[in-house]
Amino acid sequence: MSYNIDERGYYGEFGGAFIPEMLYPNVEELRQNYLKIMAEPSFQEEFHALLKDYVGRPSPLYFAERLSKKYNTKIYLKREDLNHTGAHKINNTIGQILMAKRLGKNRIIAETGAGQHGVATATVCALMGIECIVYMGEIDIARQAPNVARMKMLGATVVPALSGSRTLKDATNEAIRDWINNPVDTHYIIGSVVGPHPYPDMVAKFQAVVSEEIKNQLLEKEGTENPDYLIACVGGGSNAAGTYYHYLDNEDVNIIAVEAAGLGIDSGESAATSVLGKEGIIHGSKTLLMQTNDGQITEPYSISAGLDYPGVGPMHANLYKTGRAEFIAITDDEAMTAGLELSQLEGIIPAIESSHALAVFEHKKFKPEDIVVLNLSGRGDKDLQNYIDYFKL
Ligand SMILES: *Cc1c(COP(=O)(O)O)cnc(C)c1O
Repeated sequence: MSYNIDERGYYGEFGGAFIPEMLYPNVEELRQNYLKIMAEPSFQEEFHALLKDYVGRPSPLYFAERLSKKYNTKIYLKREDLNHTGAHKINNTIGQILMAKRLGKNRIIAETGAGQHGVATATVCALMGIECIVYMGEIDIARQAPNVARMKMLGATVVPALSGSRTLKDATNEAIRDWINNPVDTHYIIGSVVGPHPYPDMVAKFQAVVSEEIKNQLLEKEGTENPDYLIACVGGGSNAAGTYYHYLDNEDVNIIAVEAAGLGIDSGESAATSVLGKEGIIHGSKTLLMQTNDGQITEPYSISAGLDYPGVGPMHANLYKTGRAEFIAITDDEAMTAGLELSQLEGIIPAIESSHALAVFEHKKFKPEDIVVLNLSGRGDKDLQNYIDYFKL
């Protein structure tokens, strides 16, 4: 049994492409070409050259000595926080902008919630001199002013989504509407392992550079490619998919997925999608999502803007359903405490998303000889105001 995608675009029973007829030509063009393009030596060469010299890869695998001592186990941090633009999202947008160019597209659209994916997209569009339109909910534009300014400075047009709850799902709807209206010249850069097939697979393959590097780095440091545990936070699931990718079918390696419990699983203010979600279709993919009894999407909540997505990628829905991964839900308070702890034990201020992953050490005991690799998905600069307000700094 494999936990990777099958020929039909499914992970177990999850995935597929549930899209309106008018979107079919766009998605089908991508589906027919993405693997072929990614396999071209010239594509791989350009992708890896940019990852090296522009993004700053390979990101270090850092042995966190003081954190390890505190929890009496061996903890390595995969430093995606050190990437250009401060998180893993750039790995995907670099890949997709090269894909768009090879498909002959000269216009890029994207959706963004907190603005992190919008910034990563605006960055690669500036790099390539390609027009960039980012859809963002009106509420999110007001909440995330610094990222809106970054996108504008990078030359992108930020278009407010004025419908519904005026947040991420509404921005996504606007982006899809745009794509339907501009099928020939436009590529839609989706920001996580979500959306219709082939997006979850394509994004996972771009992020897979993370686990490729972990294998080499661990071999060098520990004499084995295999950690005992991998830990990553899950919003849509892209940094986690990258962390797990080359280990998915290696069951010697335990996988831990961390979701945002918000104010608590049963509080009604949560984003723990796998636990609270039911099967349904969101953004073109069959997966687990938080919904009402009528099947309407419910608004998630987390202190971390990057984790409050109402669905989860189909790879992760399958990892949950099959039990291949252990899912742990972390509250706002637990995450904030873990973020402060890493800052003071290691001198690294993590993104609040990554702080959720770090809080696992208070939840689960590891053996002293266990090798635990945690993906530090991003740096905390963007979250400073949140930390200031929370800790009254
Ligand atoms: C966006 C983001 C996430 C969540 O997205 P995934 O697709 O689940 O990885 C996690 N960490 C950081 C730093 C982010 O910016």
